[in-house]
Amino acid sequence: EILSSAGLLAGLNSEQLAAVTWPAQPALVLAGAGSGKTRVLTTRIAWLLQTGQASVHSILAVTFTNKAAKEMQLRLSALLPVSVRAMWLGTFHGLCHRFLRLHHQEAGLPKTFQILDIGDQLAVVKRLLKQLNIADEVIAPRSLQGFINAQKENGLRASRLTARDPHERLMIECYAAYDSLCQNEGVVDFAELMLRSYEILQSNDVLRCHYQNRFNHVLIDEFQDTNKLQYAWLKLLAGEHAAVFAVGDDDQSIYRFRGAEVANMTRFLHEFGVSEPIRLEQNYRSVGNILTAANAVIAHNASRLGKNLHTESGSGEKIRVLQAINDIEEAQFVVDEVKALHREGLDYMQMGILYRSNAQSRVLEQALFRAGIPYKIYGGLRFYERQEIKHALAYLRLAVNPDDDNALLRVINVPTRGIGTRTIENIQAAASQTGTSLWQAASSLAAKNSKIAAFIHLIENLQAQTAQVSLPELMAAAIYDSGLMEYYRTQKGEQQERINNLEELLNAAVAFKPQESGFDSEPEYDENDPLFAVLSFLSTASLEAGEHQAGQGEDALQLMTVHAAKGLEFDAVFLTGLEEGLFPSEYSMAEKDGLEEERRLMYVAITRARKRLYLTMAQQRLLHGQTHFALPSRFVDEIPECVLQYLSAHKNTLVARQQITQRTNPFHSSRSKLADTPASTDFDGFQLGQNVHHERFGTGVIIEASHKAEGARLTINFGKQGIKELDTVFAKSKLT
Ligand code: ATP
Ligand code: MG
Repeated sequence: EILSSAGLLAGLNSEQLAAVTWPAQPALVLAGAGSGKTRVLTTRIAWLLQTGQASVHSILAVTFTNKAAKEMQLRLSALLPVSVRAMWLGTFHGLCHRFLRLHHQEAGLPKTFQILDIGDQLAVVKRLLKQLNIADEVIAPRSLQGFINAQKENGLRASRLTARDPHERLMIECYAAYDSLCQNEGVVDFAELMLRSYEILQSNDVLRCHYQNRFNHVLIDEFQDTNKLQYAWLKLLAGEHAAVFAVGDDDQSIYRFRGAEVANMTRFLHEFGVSEPIRLEQNYRSVGNILTAANAVIAHNASRLGKNLHTESGSGEKIRVLQAINDIEEAQFVVDEVKALHREGLDYMQMGILYRSNAQSRVLEQALFRAGIPYKIYGGLRFYERQEIKHALAYLRLAVNPDDDNALLRVINVPTRGIGTRTIENIQAAASQTGTSLWQAASSLAAKNSKIAAFIHLIENLQAQTAQVSLPELMAAAIYDSGLMEYYRTQKGEQQERINNLEELLNAAVAFKPQESGFDSEPEYDENDPLFAVLSFLSTASLEAGEHQAGQGEDALQLMTVHAAKGLEFDAVFLTGLEEGLFPSEYSMAEKDGLEEERRLMYVAITRARKRLYLTMAQQRLLHGQTHFALPSRFVDEIPECVLQYLSAHKNTLVARQQITQRTNPFHSSRSKLADTPASTDFDGFQLGQNVHHERFGTGVIIEASHKAEGARLTINFGKQGIKELDTVFAKSKLT
């Protein structure tokens, strides 16, 4: 049923309404977290379509993550019966990729060009340095990779760089060599997607005019995180006439380390002739206490554009703070609370567990796994980054482009088929001698080597199928005919999970729907070409690495880094690992403005919560294989006490106790040592962290204990029954 335009606009406040129905002119919405920026942007698209001011073809909408783009598509199709797949709605990378697919000829790319993800790119860089005989000590592969990406994000090719010293000169030469290597192999890295698109738009008048005429409305979410090149790309696409509608929040700029420039906001006002940003000041997401905490934390930052946020929902519950003994107990606490909330009727997907860095997920995952709670991870080892998936996709990539050297190296001997390192080196030598791809070199050696011949035959077979069979059939061939499935079936160890993953990959191929080009004046582009589906699938896999999760649609707890949580919201949020050195991270403190960026990250984290927020930390945790002791994050101290509720005893006592522990036993080096509890942590027969049962209060956990002249005093968290202090002298008989 189509909603009337009044229905679309119902419920918006007056500032939101003004923003949604802004005339076709540039506008910047500058507003804090949860004030409805994304909602305004989505509603504006729907309103433009519904009132006939724009068609699906004339809108370009950019969001920051694939998850956000998908959510926007969902919201839109809920509002209007539009073909969102035909719309140019996506991430910067996704849209540039689509653009290059359509215009690969103008871009000087083979039709079958492939995308290098971060890992593939590093492999290429390493290979290049080896070819050039440059030792890792002279140029570390990662530093070259970082250098190349940073230059591309600034829009600079090697030819436009000037060296200040010999080392830099070498880096620039490597950058140039890297670019020509990629060009020869028909591969494109992430940063190249953007830069190449930008360059074509700039140099090709016909294309530029076409797109500038086509897109009347350009809308961008999370504008504060755009970098120089993205800004320039938007500006070029928008041209003189498009109404550019940007929304953002300077306090949520968390990608400066990747070149994002908040200055783009003030630049936008200036260059697009916008006199005043539109401000939204009512927060609809979070209850008062959570908003108070967020506002208080961010107020500690000096460089801000300044905004106000208030809420009309009540103050809500206090923010729960827990300092656990160690990370295992922290995780256990989270799991227990999650279970309790779920019993109370909250869906798992309405709860988010956030952490500063990916590595922190493992302990949490373990606890969740043991408790049998379904969860999904955004980030971390993603589905498409898993070994077996990359192997299978490499076969697919070779099927469409056998000259893809990376893909060939990945699977020439996986599963093992007797092509050893020696043989591979011979192939590489032959290739660099004749200046051809590894595939061609291998083909020329096939007559003398039956193992190579068998491999060539296998790939040619796949190649022949690409023109004839459907994507799932080709995928099945890549998984089964290659011997990959059999390989994992006969291997020891983790094979079952890998087999499941490969089967899931086949599911993904079956369910896959390529995006429509939404572009009718491109005659060469045939969506019915079976190759099209394969290419789209491969690109989607690279772009969305990880955002495809097994068991879609299933209710699952959401785990992710704070970065990945940008723009999302949950009824309950667990913000874990709030310790100095972890959050704020120790690296950030060494950098200029590093602490302010961490604080913005904290602001993003807090404002993800709608109703309930937990702040948790551990006194000890295993980091890089060693036990570390940590103080609570300074960010927790920046929150007014009146909105906090300590679930453990007051933090000062805890800190004191931690220091004592540290003095008595400074060399905890492994978890096993932690486990054999020293005598001093025995409190009249009870231990910290121990689960107990009280005849009146039910089940609880001992969160604090101290010795007394007689017996001990225990502080026990009985969950819904609250936190009780009990003296063992009186309570021992009631506790089991
Ligand atoms: P962030 O800065 O975190 O990206 P945002 O400004 O984009 O936040 P939204 O995600 O658009 O905020 O909105 C936050 C929540 O408030 C959403 O659940 C949204 O549906 C709701 N919301 C926004 N405006 C209104 C409104 N006028 N009435 C009721 N709910 C609203
Ligand atoms: Mg948003």
